[in-house]
Amino acid sequence: MRIGIGYDSHRFNSRSGPLRLGGVRIPHARGLAGHSDADVLLHAVADALLGAIGAPDLGELFPPSDPRWREADSRAFVNEAVTRVRKAGWQVGNLDATVIADAPRLGPHKTAMRRTISRLLRIAPSAVSVKAKTTEGLAPGKAGIAVQAVVLLKPAISNLRQRRISLWLKQSPPEADQPSAEAVRKSRTRKNRTAR
Ligand SMILES: [Zn+2]
Repeated sequence: MRIGIGYDSHRFNSRSGPLRLGGVRIPHARGLAGHSDADVLLHAVADALLGAIGAPDLGELFPPSDPRWREADSRAFVNEAVTRVRKAGWQVGNLDATVIADAPRLGPHKTAMRRTISRLLRIAPSAVSVKAKTTEGLAPGKAGIAVQAVVLLKPAISNLRQRRISLWLKQSPPEADQPSAEAVRKSRTRKNRTAR
């Protein structure tokens, strides 16, 4: 297993919105300042992935000084990070992220963000969590948006092996991996008898 943590923050700019968060366009009076599309959530996700495999961070891979990344779609950054994760022999287990912002309200967009991120990470939406927190009026909530993300990686297994495992899980009765209290008691009694 590998674990990675990512953090990012962007200030609101003077231009009008919408802003992009988790690859989703969110209506808001102000957008976020940044060289790329300033998707602070995807930047934290990409850095968590890169950190987990010990790769150079987002700023090193896609320096803001490089005109190629001007207004870049941050989904490309996550795609690059996922490719590197796969090449290193890992796959994403799950991702947990907290978006810290006093505005806009993110509740109505959480499902769309989860779905978009899960597609980028090639995992089920249930393995992605996006939580929204306000700062109760403390910085940086008023001036911009900050994000923390944690990702767990597990060794990549081939599709064929994955299919075999899911088939085996379907065939084996639930007791096989979770013995009931009754089964445990019976086997103990049996063992005791053999001992005598
Ligand atoms: Zn950023």
